[in-house]
Amino acid sequence: MDFDDIVIGSGLAALGAAMGLCRHQGRRVGILCGPAHGCFDYYDQHKTVPCAFHGAGGLGNFWHGVIPTGRVRRLSSASDEAFANLFRHFYPRADMAVHMGQPGQFVPWRPIRPMRELQRMARVDGGRDLHLLIDSAVSLAFGSAHAEVVAALGRYRAHRVWLAAGALHTPDLLTRSFSADMARGRVSDHVFCYVGQLAHHPAPEVQTGLDGVFLQGWPASPGASEGLYSLRPALFDFRRLDHGIERRAVFGLPTGHLIRKLARRSSPGLLAEAFYNRFGRPTGAHLHSVYAQLQVRDAYDLAAGAARLQARTADIRRATDAARHSQPFVGLIPSKRPELALPGIHLHHSLDLDAMARLGIDEPGSPVQVVDASALSDIGPEHHSFEMLVAAHQRGRFAPT
Ligand SMILES: Cc1cc2nc3c(=O)[nH]c(=O)nc-3n(C[C@H](O)[C@H](O)[C@H](O)COP(=O)(O)OP(=O)(O)OC[C@H]3O[C@@H](n4cnc5c(N)ncnc54)[C@H](O)[C@@H]3O)c2cc1C
Repeated sequence: MDFDDIVIGSGLAALGAAMGLCRHQGRRVGILCGPAHGCFDYYDQHKTVPCAFHGAGGLGNFWHGVIPTGRVRRLSSASDEAFANLFRHFYPRADMAVHMGQPGQFVPWRPIRPMRELQRMARVDGGRDLHLLIDSAVSLAFGSAHAEVVAALGRYRAHRVWLAAGALHTPDLLTRSFSADMARGRVSDHVFCYVGQLAHHPAPEVQTGLDGVFLQGWPASPGASEGLYSLRPALFDFRRLDHGIERRAVFGLPTGHLIRKLARRSSPGLLAEAFYNRFGRPTGAHLHSVYAQLQVRDAYDLAAGAARLQARTADIRRATDAARHSQPFVGLIPSKRPELALPGIHLHHSLDLDAMARLGIDEPGSPVQVVDASALSDIGPEHHSFEMLVAAHQRGRFAPT
């Protein structure tokens, strides 16, 4: 046997699984990181918003690192304490426990970068036997007590394989290896929309610390559909109703050096909003933009090959209308462009869980386990990636040796 465990992928889900597995002394773990030269997939032909990155580190190279405090939807049995402990591992000087259960989010100064963490783990002594392989899985097969991965550069055998290739690539791999019915042909996502403007509302509570900033959020009105609402200062050109979402709809969501790219786009309103999102600095604005993030089940049809995602616009519109209707603020001036919405880049639920169960994949004790968002059917309204990392960590940590 080459390894006790193989993790396919090197993004946030893979990092969580690897951290959990490496809690077992002497366990031999191989990470298939993906190809040396990565490439993006995009939501549509405009290529303004990425939806996957096939390469070392995955989308974890680009994410903003936002971690919600509410834990509206738990993706594992991890207690608040276990969640806070893992958070403390990355951000020892920020006190998550104080904010736990309150709607809002933590924006770190330094987002977790999975490849950096995996490389650090592979270097550190202490019984860890972690191997980072720059290679891509082509297919896999499994028996009752082991699994075998055929990759571009070699074959690897292990007692267990952990799939963390992301919401689009994990179904591809299972489809290639087993049958087409592994993929649902649809995928769910968060959608981000502009709800309107609020004048003279108290500014959101902000707590700035050494590792990042905690920003207040708001849930939907009681009894209404789920959503997570945030307030951002509406300054300069963003004082005009709908101007912000119109600009965002054109430019999408840039990866990498966000502030520098925004500065080039010469919208002071967008720059002011980005500074607030990133650093939480009070601006004294008397006008705020209200945004909502919500989960849209089956937001996209998902096909194989190029131009894979087709937005199911009527379903997205129904969900954003419900979020506008459920907004919790009094005196809001509603948006006049309700048709505009942005993808949340939180794709999930792309696998057919029944088809997987029939093959014995992801069942307790199975040699093939799925730890990324492709197998998550309900992530709630909050940013899910750190919660997914915690769930993967939990699975790796308590996996039998
Ligand atoms: C600009 C931006 C900002 C974001 N901000 C946030 C945020 O603030 N908060 C939040 O919660 N989420 C955020 N996200 C979403 C977040 O980045 C993703 O949810 C998360 O990174 C997904 O992690 P993953 O490990 O499941 O998959 P991925 O990051 O997609 O990783 C998949 C991995 O699998 C590898 N792989 C794929 N196929 C194969 C194969 N056949 N063989 C071997 N390896 C393979 C890839 O190389 C990659 O390493 C953001 C995303 C973007 C783009």
